[in-house]
Amino acid sequence: MNSTRRQFLQAAGSLATSCCLPGYGFAHESAKRDPMVGVQIAPHSMLDEGIDRCLDLLQGEARVNTLFIYSQTYHMGVTPQNVLATDHGVPVRDPRNRNLPNYWVKSDHSEFAGGLIQHEPQRDDLEYSDRDLFQEVRKPASDRGMKVYARILEAGGNRMDNIPGYRKVQTIDHLGHRSGGPCWNHPAYREWVFKTIEQLVTNYDLDGLQYGAERTGPMSHVLFRGETATCFCSHCIQRNQEKGIDADRARLGYGKLYSLIKATEQKKARPVDGLLTEVLRILQRFPEILSWDYQWFLADEEICTQVHHTAKAISPNIDSGRHVDHQRSSWDVFYRAAVPYSTMAENADFIKPILYHETLGPRLRWWVLERMKDRVLNELSLEQSLSLFYSTFGHTAKEMPQVEALDANGLGATYVYNETKRCKLGVGSHAKVYAGIGIDVPWYVPGGMEPRPSRPDSVEAAVVQAFEAGADGVLASREYNEMRVPSLRAFGKGVDQFLAVQSNSSSGSKP
Ligand SMILES: [Zn+2]
Repeated sequence: MNSTRRQFLQAAGSLATSCCLPGYGFAHESAKRDPMVGVQIAPHSMLDEGIDRCLDLLQGEARVNTLFIYSQTYHMGVTPQNVLATDHGVPVRDPRNRNLPNYWVKSDHSEFAGGLIQHEPQRDDLEYSDRDLFQEVRKPASDRGMKVYARILEAGGNRMDNIPGYRKVQTIDHLGHRSGGPCWNHPAYREWVFKTIEQLVTNYDLDGLQYGAERTGPMSHVLFRGETATCFCSHCIQRNQEKGIDADRARLGYGKLYSLIKATEQKKARPVDGLLTEVLRILQRFPEILSWDYQWFLADEEICTQVHHTAKAISPNIDSGRHVDHQRSSWDVFYRAAVPYSTMAENADFIKPILYHETLGPRLRWWVLERMKDRVLNELSLEQSLSLFYSTFGHTAKEMPQVEALDANGLGATYVYNETKRCKLGVGSHAKVYAGIGIDVPWYVPGGMEPRPSRPDSVEAAVVQAFEAGADGVLASREYNEMRVPSLRAFGKGVDQFLAVQSNSSSGSKP
């Protein structure tokens, strides 16, 4: 632990017992920050609880000054009732018995009429169809000094039927089958996204916009999950051919990689020179594999760039930024290599990496280590694989839990510090960093989810560590309707600590 960080923690700790604050400083005390303190929230949560009541709770308990509200919820399934917070003061309704909209803004549907994809039509049988949340929340939010951001998450392959026409732009895998979400190179998909942004920013008075997808590339799908490689649609083939990348060679190479991983899953004989050697052999003989992967990520970058510039052209002061999902922020090495934060920052006002420290424990164990053990890292033990992860992703192994402790302990606030710091160093002065702090994020079990309540001290520490690493804001994530009041209160306490220490630092008092 460096000395500045130790000083901060000492100072923060003293706040609980003393009104005479010592003059310790933050790593970035020279630039006093007015932090963004946000919450990710679904539109129906505010309408269920009542807008005023909901805003008061968020401001009073969690110090929230910015609302990140979904303008469309096509990506969402039905959240099981057992993981919803029950202490907000309003009875929780069973989500299975509800008929909620997916498109929460009023827009000109005729604008989409000529395209392959439309939006969900306005229907009177949908709950809240007579409400216009983004219009209704504006004044109550402003009255409280709160900002309103729209938030869009791309709907993936398991939600194709939520959007009219979405299947027409679905990706094609290396075997020629429709598979996964929309193709980032499909012109009709891009047009739909940009028009959606255009209407949203034109029709509503928004302070900010957050956009992002939660997908990685074909290399990760094959090597980490044993899934087929996408996308090989005509648009992707044309794009790659224009870059001098041979589609047949790429398809052949991915086929060989896929067969190798499937054989490993089935515990067939280890290749004579070893699995990793065989993987590297295929990559060297078919460099088109890597090129295809990189072009896929560049297509996503082009969409995010255009989203940003579309919003800024209409509303120059809008705070427009990127959602970076957990696999991209924390464990997918191919994405990390292809798209560094410095690249994202060229076309974003802020970057919001997901840094859910508690739930990263089971996610790392079951979504990363165990999956890789069955596939590309089959030759390593789980302990060796975890050690490799810590070493190559910038963590100090002795500060982190070992395999058997991941489920129970999660990764701790040090992980939040490390990843926030990395993001800050990457973006430099080009963009702000809003750390996505995980609160009461449930865990997936067969047939549903189970609650995974946060420890208040852990949430508070994560907020403190994010600020100590230089975050320009913290965002309570992932969904407000999962967050229990003690957790929201702990989030607010972390914010209070930052504000108090910062205030004391700028006053120049000495201990
Ligand atoms: Zn494609």
